[in-house]
Amino acid sequence: MKHTKSEQAAIEANQYIVGGVNSPSRSYKGVGGGTPITMAYGDGCYLYDVDGNKYIDYLAAFGPIITGFNHPHIVAAIKKAAETGVLYGTPTAYENKFAKMLTDAIPSMDKVRFTNSGTEAVMTTVRVARAYTNRDLIVKFSGAYHGHFDLVLVEAGSGPSTLGASDSAGVTNSTAQEVITVPFNQVAPFQAVMEKWGSKVAGVLVEPIIGNFGMVPPEPGFLEAINEIAHAHGALVIYDEVITNFRFRYGAAQDMLGVIPDLTAFGKSIGGGLPIGAYGGPKHIMDTVAPLGPAYQAGTMAGNPLSMQAGIACLEVLQEPGIYERMADFARQLKDALLEAGETNGIPTVVNQIGGSLTVYFSDHPIKEYEDAKNTDSEMFGRFFHLMLEEGINLAPSKFEAWFLTIMHTQQDIDETIAVIHRVFEKLAQ
Ligand code: PMP
Repeated sequence: MKHTKSEQAAIEANQYIVGGVNSPSRSYKGVGGGTPITMAYGDGCYLYDVDGNKYIDYLAAFGPIITGFNHPHIVAAIKKAAETGVLYGTPTAYENKFAKMLTDAIPSMDKVRFTNSGTEAVMTTVRVARAYTNRDLIVKFSGAYHGHFDLVLVEAGSGPSTLGASDSAGVTNSTAQEVITVPFNQVAPFQAVMEKWGSKVAGVLVEPIIGNFGMVPPEPGFLEAINEIAHAHGALVIYDEVITNFRFRYGAAQDMLGVIPDLTAFGKSIGGGLPIGAYGGPKHIMDTVAPLGPAYQAGTMAGNPLSMQAGIACLEVLQEPGIYERMADFARQLKDALLEAGETNGIPTVVNQIGGSLTVYFSDHPIKEYEDAKNTDSEMFGRFFHLMLEEGINLAPSKFEAWFLTIMHTQQDIDETIAVIHRVFEKLAQ
């Protein structure tokens, strides 16, 4: 494949944009380096780069593109929205309609507020939990990603009862001391933290199915235990469903898992590809938010007509019967192919597949928590990523991300991808 124009675009990007990317996860730092491909346009489940190369895409823009890049129903909604004024700064009926669709689909949510990103949504759930409980501390799980606000850029280094140290320059030590990080899928360390700090903990922030050290399901009973222990100490449970909402079913993962949080943050797939976030919960907690209550949250662009109409159209598309089953079937076929190719070529391979999402790890041990995911073969993943890309398969450039199916993938795309997987594993074994 020729990448001459991509290389040129990257030189220009680096001149004007920090690191050449507007979000660090788009760089190829996590896959041994290289120049990120500059894409020109998307169609269905395909991306075309500025050099004219075609890719079958499983990045799905890190999740949101569940209906494909240009679904006609969503495109029509965005066009109509653009033609009738993109922003009013007043309430619109679109907000009501979209809010009703979300609260209908998600039983734990009586009321919702829209934001412009997942980060804002999670950040506000934390504020609401603090306002509601009148407490400060937050507990979260290592390797989970909750956006880029200060508090969640903190990772506890050494043991469950240690208060965290910051992961990012610019996050103050005092902020780092407000969050405690424990391993996912282990009840005992969480319980120990709650016994020590529980009376000061406002909320426990959970990705109910991890999407940020690959896709990692909760062990049976884990989420139930978190709920029970948190509530016993008067802390709220906050689910970050920014990745998992409308990914596995029409609605939130919490209903698939049968465990109900107090607050939930949403994002990505609910917006049809436009900037979006939302958070919600029962009336008695949500009424803590201004103008009804003392917890402040606002946004000039929040609930903007473009995102609302794209979101409504996206949820309408996602109501089509059979689509989630089809995405899961395709993901299972990819998983089987990856495992078979690993086996045939003597490359230890683990695949975590949940519905229409999967992550491939080069590992000889199962992946249940962050340490397991870190302790996999990064160099092999980097080679795998670049070989797949050269064969026209666009994946997330990190061993900690997922492949996402869209409703636009066809059996032919899956068959082509499987053929590529076998060729790439043969090269990896050489
Ligand atoms: N929470 C989770 C679970 C996420 O995966 C992400 C984004 N990857 C966020 C929050 C932040 O969302 P955004 O990038 O829209 O701010």
